[in-house]
Amino acid sequence: LSARARRDLAAFSAWSGRRAACFDGDRPERTPLGATTVREAAARYHRDLHDYLFQPVAGCFFGWDTGRSAAAPLVSLLLEAGSPSSWRTYRGGMDFLARRLAADTEVVTGHTVREVVDAGGHAVLRCDDGEVRARAAVLAVPAPVAVALRPEVPADERPFLTACTFTPMLKVSCLLDRPLAPAARRPVHILLTPDAEEQVLSGVVVDHAKDPGRAPEGRGLITLVAAPRQVPELLDAAPDDTADLLVHAAERYVPGIGAARRHHFAHTFRHGLPEATPAALAERAAFLDRPVRAVEYAGDWVMLRPASEGAVRAGALAASRVLSRLGRPRPAGPDRLEKSVATA
Ligand SMILES: Cc1cc2nc3c(=O)[nH]c(=O)nc-3n(C[C@H](O)[C@H](O)[C@H](O)COP(=O)(O)OP(=O)(O)OC[C@H]3O[C@@H](n4cnc5c(N)ncnc54)[C@H](O)[C@@H]3O)c2cc1C
Repeated sequence: LSARARRDLAAFSAWSGRRAACFDGDRPERTPLGATTVREAAARYHRDLHDYLFQPVAGCFFGWDTGRSAAAPLVSLLLEAGSPSSWRTYRGGMDFLARRLAADTEVVTGHTVREVVDAGGHAVLRCDDGEVRARAAVLAVPAPVAVALRPEVPADERPFLTACTFTPMLKVSCLLDRPLAPAARRPVHILLTPDAEEQVLSGVVVDHAKDPGRAPEGRGLITLVAAPRQVPELLDAAPDDTADLLVHAAERYVPGIGAARRHHFAHTFRHGLPEATPAALAERAAFLDRPVRAVEYAGDWVMLRPASEGAVRAGALAASRVLSRLGRPRPAGPDRLEKSVATA
């Protein structure tokens, strides 16, 4: 950042720091920023703050167009978790929590659910081969998928559910024969590539630096994240072509990545991450005020918070709503308590 941009960053940090208590990640609709978009919020400052700070963070981590989503969730996250260089990850991968929860639960897959109905005292899941009745159902799918499952969605749920839009995401994981990384003064686990400088990528994640367990000794794992504006046209492209495009662009930041690549995997997420549009923000309070019902929802979109913390908070909220309807939870015995440690 230029000297003037650094001065403005200090001014922004002071402004948000003084109001930190008013930024609650669980209440993105109630912050001093209101529905101001990221781009609008940044417009008060030197343009480098948008181009080289807010846009790269929102673009790479959230898949956001800064002109469409509100700044409040982003500022709340920065206040709560600090700058991205100090963020933590799960040892064993992002699905660590989901796998740990599933280990104690009966999980059934391979049954397509066509419709979920609130029958008053219970929920009914309509599948191709019959019905499942349950005292409660929690739809833990992206909002557009949840809406499609609920033709009779209540009037106080529909506005928020339909306002919750998603951006697609695409990343290519490159298995390398050596632990390459972008040149930097000290080892980095991610390099954000601003839209102002880079058309194809939004970031380069150095997975073997994030968690050494992600690659064998002496090898490397680098994940290339596609720039948000590239993703829609790449969703249906041949995976090998997509990988070649991203790897070619990454040579600028990780010289030799093409030659060191042994395998690659292209991952596409049509409902990648939830946006936090002013329209969704405006409908959220009414959605949260709805009565508890036999059909509930969980997902990062409920919090308008496109990160695993958002999913965890939404899961806890859904669990408490279900339990408040059905009765008390089972007390946690000593065998159910575990200690786990996250790594940087
Ligand atoms: C590329 C990428 C990188 C990310 N990196 C990070 C990170 O480093 N740190 C972080 O904190 N967060 C990260 N996130 C965000 C994090 O993964 C999400 O916020 C979190 O997984 C959301 O949890 P969820 O339960 O709301 O939804 P999900 O974990 O997305 O679960 C929704 C489930 O619904 C299923 N589903 C969708 N459609 C259907 C359908 N039609 N029928 C049946 N099932 C369906 C999906 O398969 C999925 O299993 C990343 C997200 C992406 C896309």
